[in-house]
Amino acid sequence: MKKQQHRFDILSLFPNYFTGPFTESIVKRAIDKGIIEIRQINIRDFAENKHHRVDDRPFGGGPGMILMPEPVSKAIRSVKTENSKTIYLSPQGQLLTAKKARELAAYSHLILLCGHYEGVDERVIRSDVDEEISIGDYVLTDGCLAAIVLLNAVIRFIPGTLGHEDAANEDSFENHILDCPHYTKPVVFEGQEVPEVLLSGNHKLIAEWRKEQALDKTKRVRPDLAIVNKNQT
Ligand code: SAM
Repeated sequence: MKKQQHRFDILSLFPNYFTGPFTESIVKRAIDKGIIEIRQINIRDFAENKHHRVDDRPFGGGPGMILMPEPVSKAIRSVKTENSKTIYLSPQGQLLTAKKARELAAYSHLILLCGHYEGVDERVIRSDVDEEISIGDYVLTDGCLAAIVLLNAVIRFIPGTLGHEDAANEDSFENHILDCPHYTKPVVFEGQEVPEVLLSGNHKLIAEWRKEQALDKTKRVRPDLAIVNKNQT
């Protein structure tokens, strides 16, 4: 059966911003394999004035500029289909989690709207955006970096993107637990030895050790995840 291709349309004022992150590594490989397609849409191309101006001062006063509703709305509608989900990257959105990334990986078309300056006119959010998503409780200068983070987190859950099909299922946050510690060659590094159990060849013991280590770290570093874990068992 032919695998479904996933398309990402990124709407921003700086299409060149994305060159490095999308032309290297796993994202590049996913594009080359035809698993994902990424298109850059310049919001400025939808400006309705001869100077291609897309921002203006906020009504009511205050600092900064606001992206005007017309060009943003037109840009979204130029790519939107009945299968699209439109996301506005915003510090006021729900926090991005692994669970949300997995959920978004099921969509065949994501439209990622990057804000600039003080953000976008509220009316666009109401009429054209399905969901606001934040990548953390801090404010970035624009939404481009947030779009890169979201896309990167989402594609890991699209089948065929990672070399090993199960890789994403064993990562941190799956089953409310962090990943276990990993070791590779050499066996001794600056006097520190690889835990003996990992050299034993006993898969049952190794699996138990890894689970124990992962739980231990989760309790120490992210007790909030450990609490969810406890409530589930
Ligand atoms: N005035 C806005 C506020 O305080 O909520 C912040 C605007 S910020 C300077 C400009 C743009 O960066 C936003 O429109 C959004 O697209 C993006 N951005 C900033 N922080 C973000 C975050 N934590 N997650 C996702 N996008 C963010």
